[in-house]
Amino acid sequence: RPTIERDVVVIGAGPAGMMAAYTLKKAGKSVAVLEARPRVGGRTWNGKVQDASGKEHFIEIGGQWISPDQTRLIDLVEELGLTTFSRYREGQNVYVAPDGTRHTYSGDQLPVSDTTATEIDKLIDLLNTKVTEMDVTQPWAMPDAAQLDAISFRDWLKQHSDDQEAIDNVSIYIASGMLTKPAHTFSALQAILMAASAGSFSNLVDEDFILDKRVVGGMQSVSLKMAEYLGDDVYLSSPVRQLDWATTDPETADALNNVAADVRNGVVDDGAPAEVTAYSDTVIVQAKTAVLAVPPNLYHRIQYVPPLPREQMVAHQHISMGLVIKVHAVYETPFWRDKGLSGTGFGGGRMVQEVYDNTNYGPNLVDDHDAENPHGTLVSFISDVHAETMWALPAKERKQRILAELAAYLGDEALEPIAFFLSDMAAEEWTRGAYATSYDLGGLSRWGHLQNRPTGSIYYACSDIAAEGYQHVDGAIRQGELVAGRILERLQ
Ligand code: FAD
Repeated sequence: RPTIERDVVVIGAGPAGMMAAYTLKKAGKSVAVLEARPRVGGRTWNGKVQDASGKEHFIEIGGQWISPDQTRLIDLVEELGLTTFSRYREGQNVYVAPDGTRHTYSGDQLPVSDTTATEIDKLIDLLNTKVTEMDVTQPWAMPDAAQLDAISFRDWLKQHSDDQEAIDNVSIYIASGMLTKPAHTFSALQAILMAASAGSFSNLVDEDFILDKRVVGGMQSVSLKMAEYLGDDVYLSSPVRQLDWATTDPETADALNNVAADVRNGVVDDGAPAEVTAYSDTVIVQAKTAVLAVPPNLYHRIQYVPPLPREQMVAHQHISMGLVIKVHAVYETPFWRDKGLSGTGFGGGRMVQEVYDNTNYGPNLVDDHDAENPHGTLVSFISDVHAETMWALPAKERKQRILAELAAYLGDEALEPIAFFLSDMAAEEWTRGAYATSYDLGGLSRWGHLQNRPTGSIYYACSDIAAEGYQHVDGAIRQGELVAGRILERLQ
């Protein structure tokens, strides 16, 4: 393995790491990006699925949608010369009620009873109010943070409503829809952060807002474009196994173990060591600083020399990935459009709680389906315990069960896709779940304040520790840029 020297070593070539490296290199710093996978993009990934004739259909295996509040990503997409297109949303939406009855509707009100509608509105208003009380950059500083972090989102909703249908349909937007964990496993504080990071809870509920646009050519193109700029500075198939980040001098190590107190006093950078060495499978990089741009659930895969401070080693054990299967079903045509349906469907509490038209870009896509590419694609999601149930089934039965769910929303034509694919990020060694990580009950208020503080020369960047754009590509981009800015100040 060669040893090279750089100003900054970036570990992880997801959107956060690529943005950090791109920003640093543009500012004249030398960088090396070490990426475990044989590709850049992390949890964004342009893929293809074949139909029986061998024809390939484009799919986005990972993150894809951009919402209007995600302004840093929107600007970057433009800067990189990429373009976006809108999700198809013409026609009626479908709601499948708990008793299995199917209703079509338009607008943003689910066709539920008046009582349930009132309860849903009440819960949404309550969540919106809590969002206004939170500073998204420090949710742990909210006056009732500890209290909200000590109660599960499910129990908190139950404190405020006894209408199960209302609770299920409000839960969707955070539990299965975002954190991809059951609502009893994460706190109300964590749920409010999710909403606050998108501007309001109402923004999460509005699919036309939160699932607004896609990048033509796929979201991974954002990282691929930055990789073009970085050229040979990106080292693929280079997992980092060890990171030497500080003196092994016992006195310094002891001081760093007491870093928690220093961090709170804002002096953590002061006694910080100046050098790091990252050992990957293909290259060793000596640098002045490191950016650790991997999801927090993977921090422990690297051996730190010396070990990270006590408080971080404890905190990192309380952050875990959610679990969701992203379902892609390609059809001869977007048959639902011919029936006057948008392809959007919701059903709180069901195995498939949301489905959308995810047809690929064609020149006339929105108003007039593209004749060159007549196929239609549906995307849907199966979260947490439902995902476990599905993975436990034989592949054929799994597919039938999922397609039957799509048919409950959009009709029997959904049973006959020409191509079918399940995104399985939980089986990816360098991700281990989807969409992102969150704290277990009580963790955000206890340890959240540590997540963005550098440890000596190690800076952290990831969508999962972002404020705005938390758990989204926009948050990753913001984090990469933020950390690059801090490093530039330090290296002045
Ligand atoms: P990652 O993308 O996870 O990148 C981290 C990188 O670090 C990876 O490339 C990994 O291989 C690498 N790595 C890990 N360990 C090491 C190591 N030891 N050495 C070297 N490299 C290492 N977001 C949206 O905005 N819109 C969406 O519609 C959306 N949908 C999603 C759907 C799915 C199925 C998934 C999985 C995610 C989705 N997301 C979405 C979330 C979005 O993809 C992530 O928030 C974003 O990719 C996070 O970027 P990141 O750089 O912080 O982390």
